[in-house]
Parts: sequence; structure tokens; C-alpha cells
Amino acid sequence: MRTASKSPFRLVLIMLGLILASGPAPAADYDLVINNGRVMNPANGLDSVRNIGIRDGRIEAISRDALDGKQQVEVGGLVVAPGFIDLHAHGQREFESWLQARDGVTTQLEMEAGVYPVAAWYEQRAGASPINYGATVGHPPVRIATMADLKSIGLDESDLAVGLLNNEHFGAIAAQRNWVEDPANAEQLAGILERLQRGLDEGALGIGFGINYTAGATREEIYRAFGVAAANNVSNFVHSRFGYELELGGSVDAVQELLANAAATGAGLHIVHIGSSGGSRVPLLLEMIDSARRNGINVSTEVYPYTAWSTFIGAALFDGDFRNNLGIDYGDIELPSSGERLNQERFELLRRESPGTIIVGHGMKEDKVAAAVAHPGVMIASDGMFYNEGRAHPRGAGTFSRVLGYYVREKHALSLMDALGKMSYLPAKRLENAVPQMKRKGRIEIGADADLVIFNPETVRDNATFSEPALPSSGIEHVLVNGVFVVRNGAPQKDESPGRAVRR
Ligand SMILES: [Zn+2]
Repeated sequence: MRTASKSPFRLVLIMLGLILASGPAPAADYDLVINNGRVMNPANGLDSVRNIGIRDGRIEAISRDALDGKQQVEVGGLVVAPGFIDLHAHGQREFESWLQARDGVTTQLEMEAGVYPVAAWYEQRAGASPINYGATVGHPPVRIATMADLKSIGLDESDLAVGLLNNEHFGAIAAQRNWVEDPANAEQLAGILERLQRGLDEGALGIGFGINYTAGATREEIYRAFGVAAANNVSNFVHSRFGYELELGGSVDAVQELLANAAATGAGLHIVHIGSSGGSRVPLLLEMIDSARRNGINVSTEVYPYTAWSTFIGAALFDGDFRNNLGIDYGDIELPSSGERLNQERFELLRRESPGTIIVGHGMKEDKVAAAVAHPGVMIASDGMFYNEGRAHPRGAGTFSRVLGYYVREKHALSLMDALGKMSYLPAKRLENAVPQMKRKGRIEIGADADLVIFNPETVRDNATFSEPALPSSGIEHVLVNGVFVVRNGAPQKDESPGRAVRR
């Protein structure tokens, strides 16, 4: 609601306005004004109707008063929130970036698997993305660059820069097992640490790990890599060593390794997708993470709002007695390319002959996922995968709207403000010490980047399903990236590419 100002100062302004109005038209104060939205800012708890003035890609006014803009957009009845920041976005080609934009994401970061070489990856993305982008230097691609025999499959390090899972050569890379299974010798370990440092020197946002995918990496290797992060004042973003239900070699064991490394090196730690990594142990792991934080460890975690996970069929987590270890059976494994559920014979054939095949595993319990989504401090991140002919896990298209529609509106699992904080302010806070650019993201304040999502809280919902995983979310009416509409009235603005690099 607007409150009329009755100050004499205001009267003077009005008179001045009348004088000016009789002369040539004055230049507008703002490039764009967003009028009468319900502004929700998790950084300070503001939840009130305001007008927002945007100039040069930044928020320059937040006011109850009318603002003068070259362009005015009326958003009465809609929520205006900081654009969502996805810490875990593998799919960052045009197809996936647009799906994420339509889910309210304004910054997509590949923090888990990471990339290598880092500078080449950023160069490929420059000027071509609707939303902001960035990545860690990835321990998995660094391990491949150091240990795999790339020459024998006609590649060199620079071929890794497109990312791993969308790499047309990923099947051939995954078929090589030494980077997965072997411990690094002294020379290789030195090569791994050196490449991690090079990646940070080239502006990577931290170090990413998929220890479950590089099972041969020793405790020492991971500890030393954490040391590189500590020396550079960045955090580690980690898929833990095991996601199993076992007492030894299970998820509790794995999280304890990471907490110990964080304590021993002083490096920050972010544990990715606690839902899929934690299984039935999620409540215990969240308790351990909270307790570690209270005791001075710099640790955080995230979850995606689905009960199924996704990976490639050659992954090391399918080694050994995976049905017992993961608590699933062959029929819980689905090929997103066709919807086919596997049996033992099909599973073994695909694993042997096309280990890069992407699968979906149905194996998490709804109550554990809901508890993690609602748990204070746990961030929302998609783990969105690359789409292959329009098929992948639907989390790449619907994660953020699913939290708003299903968990907030339908299940009342958490408040709308808390949900928005988990998607914008908390991820920005997590990164801002290492990445000062993030101080201008995840909040609605003067000087912040004009990355905004404007949605209808009564209708916002995910539409992507396992059978139709590329259906865009609905209820996301407008999305602005650096002050430019990439979604307007629900429609993607495909000619726009205002996304900028987030880089140290
Ligand atoms: Zn993962």
C-alpha cells in the first residue's frame, strides 16, 4: 500500500515537477520501474508493496513513492524476489539455461563436478547465456586430465573444457577406469594439486568434488586438496565419498571424513545434495552438520526437492553390492531417454557397453526429502543435468518452482520467505567471502544487481515430470538478469543474453 507523504519537502518537489513539466521533457530517473509488487527480501525480512527503480542493471530505488522510469511494468499481486542462485547446475548449455530461467534462476553455478580447464570454460560461455554463470575447478576433471590416457582416445586436456557430462567423448572417458579406481602416485598427486591451483588462479569459485565417482582418491588426496582450498580462502563443494546405508563405508562415515578435513585445514565445506547422499541417515547428518557449525566449522549443505536421483550407469557407486548399499533394486533404475525400467540383464549390458548412459534412480523417502527442504539453513540447489534430446531428470527444469508450489503452498513444509532465502540469499552469503561479486546478489537493496524473479505465489508450480522432463515451470511471470527481461509475461525472451560471468 502507498502512503502519501505530506512533508513540505514533497510539496516543493511537486512544484519543481510542474516547473520542469512546462519545459522540455526531463530524462527519466530509471531505465525500468517495477510497480506495486510484493517485494520479499530474505536478507532483511522486508515483505511489503514497493516500487523498484532499475538503472544500468542495478537496483537504484526501493520506494513506496511513484518512480519515474523510461519503462514501467505493473506487477500488482505478484511477488518480487531476488533471482534464484543455483549452486549445483551441471547443465549450462542454451537448452538448460533457458529451462532454468523459466524456473526463476538468474545465476547457475557448477560447483560440484566443477570444470577444467577453467579459463577456457569461461571463454566458451561469454556473451552467450541468458543467466549468470560460473564454476569451481573440479577435482574429477582435474583427476582425468592428470591420470587418464586422453591421447589414446584422441583427446587432450582442452577437450575437457566443455564440461564432463555433456562431452561427446564422455562415454570413452568413463570407460577408462584408472582415474576412477587408482590411487594417485606422488607425481600424479602433485599434478592434481597443481591443476587445482591453476584453476583457482584462473578465477574458479572454489573446488568441486565427486569423491563417490573417483573412488581411488585416498583420504590423503582429498585432505591435501582441501588444503589448496584453505590456502586460497575458498570453499570445497563436495559429493561425499559414499552415499550408502552401511555403518562402515556409508554416508555417516563419508560426512565425517569431510567434517574432519574442514576442521583440519580450516577450509569451508559445502556438502551437496544431502537428500540423495544421506538416504535414511539425512536427519542424523543434518544434526552433525548443525553441530559442527555451532562448533566453529564452516559447513553448509543443500538438497533438491525430488525423491529420485540421477547419474551415469558406469558410476563407481554401482560397484559391488549396490542394491544393498543403496537400498534400491534394478527396477528402481529408469532410463530417462525412454522411461524403461531396467532388470539385471539390461543393467549389466548397458554398464558394460555404454557406461556414459544417464539413469534415474528412484530411491529416496518423501519424508526425509521434505524434512531437508524445510530444515533451517539447508539451501535449494537443482543438480540439473544436461538434457539429451529433451530428456533428463526433471530437476533441471522444476526444482525452484517445485519448492514454491509443492513444499510451500501445498504441503506448508516451510514459509515462503524461508524458501526464498534458501534459493537466493543463503547461496549468495555462502560464496561472498571468496567471491565478492556475490555481495550484490541474492538481495533486494540499493546497488544490488537487478537479478529478480517475479511470480504468482498462488499459481507457481513445476510441470516437468519424469515422463515429460523439459516442461517449463508456470507462474514465473518475469525474470530479470542484470536489469534485462529474459522471461516476460511467462515467455522466454530468446534474443537476450545478459548473463555475466561470476568469477574470482
Ligand atoms: Zn552429485
